[in-house]
Amino acid sequence: MEVNRREFLKVSGSGVIGLSLLQLGVDVRPVRAYAKALKIEGTKEIVSVCPFCSVSCHIIAHVRGGKLISTEGDPDYPINQGALCAKGASMLSMTRNENRLKKPMYRAPGSAKWEEKTWEWTFEQIASRVKKVRDKDLIQKDASGRTVNRLESLFFIGTSHADNEECAAAHQMVRGLGIVHVDHQART
Ligand code: SF4
Repeated sequence: MEVNRREFLKVSGSGVIGLSLLQLGVDVRPVRAYAKALKIEGTKEIVSVCPFCSVSCHIIAHVRGGKLISTEGDPDYPINQGALCAKGASMLSMTRNENRLKKPMYRAPGSAKWEEKTWEWTFEQIASRVKKVRDKDLIQKDASGRTVNRLESLFFIGTSHADNEECAAAHQMVRGLGIVHVDHQART
């Protein structure tokens, strides 16, 4: 009989395999004691989908008391078969990471010092600087007189921790501004 991972866990959880092994003279008590010490003990398994690229690997999220405890690749899903790339494997840090910045940090041109800024100040700076460059450099017609509305003096780069939907929204925004140089670490 073929038993997949989830069925195996259900069966072993009910003690059926443990009973059979005991009948065969194998003492599984140390294994059970070890399993109780695992950080996923008492968690609920929820199958989710990695949001970082269109491969859409399945991830098993272990949740306890409404809090994400651990994540791992789903071995029963035929596309990723339990494997995850570096981005999918770091999923847990999306929800809790003590090193994650929560306020904008700004380093002025020529300065070696980072300064903490408010979101209002940061948004105002980005909007006014982008507008200034766009007003100055937007190419409305190419050499043949065709309308292109192209902005070649700005470059937009995304973060590896932006999900598919955030990337789609950012892409539409920068294309709307006419920016043609766009990149993002969404490769596997
Ligand atoms: S980012 Fe990696 S883990 Fe996530 S769906 Fe793409 S290939 Fe899979």
